[in-house]
Amino acid sequence: MKYGIFSDIHGNLSALKIVLSYLNGKGVESFICCGDIVGYGPHPNQCIDMIKGLDNKLVIVGNHDWAAVGMEDLCKFNMLAEMAILWTQKELSNENTEYLKNLEYRYVDNKFMVVHGSPRDPIDEYIFDEEILRENLSFLNKNICFVGHTHIPIYFEISEEERVATLPLNDGAIISFKDNNRYLINIGSVGQPRDGDCRACCGIYDSNSNSLEFTRLEYDIERTQRDMKNFNLPEFLIERLTLGR
Ligand code: ZN
Repeated sequence: MKYGIFSDIHGNLSALKIVLSYLNGKGVESFICCGDIVGYGPHPNQCIDMIKGLDNKLVIVGNHDWAAVGMEDLCKFNMLAEMAILWTQKELSNENTEYLKNLEYRYVDNKFMVVHGSPRDPIDEYIFDEEILRENLSFLNKNICFVGHTHIPIYFEISEEERVATLPLNDGAIISFKDNNRYLINIGSVGQPRDGDCRACCGIYDSNSNSLEFTRLEYDIERTQRDMKNFNLPEFLIERLTLGR
């Protein structure tokens, strides 16, 4: 099975469209979204509708999704994120509010697991480094775990003896998973990357060959920024899309 994997769309429709059309063109049979469909960006309803329209999908909820439907305390967010969440709350249709409320926060099957933040704390915890990853190892009980949340593509490979390698996930990277190792893959962000590269992130996981191919895609950033300006979303959130920070 070929899975298209992406995360942290954050209401950025131009970026989501590019990612989905790329994945469809690659013959993906199923989609995995690691959360945060909304928050920050100008198209929350359109992004949810687009994801709802996918045939085979596995959609996990993120902290901004919960905040946008009143299920997460806004004091956990900085002021600009909070402003965007309050705007998103007003913007969301009743139907899409219900949709976000009903999303699961963890998926596990016999091969892999999916959460937004970390295996230990699926909604809120950020895994930026090996130290936090180590604290999560006892919760990482599948060969592969896909996450988002930090908006920084990276992966950790954990050997049987629990040696950890922290590795970059660059455009075009291919990971061949070894059966005896464990992996935590942060697939980066579709709609607001923060690793200094403004291009949208996505990956294709092939469960037959047990490998993942990671890709960066250019999209129409100015179009998203124009719409953010029209809705008076915070200037810094508009600028950071160009910076990829
Ligand atoms: Zn996010």
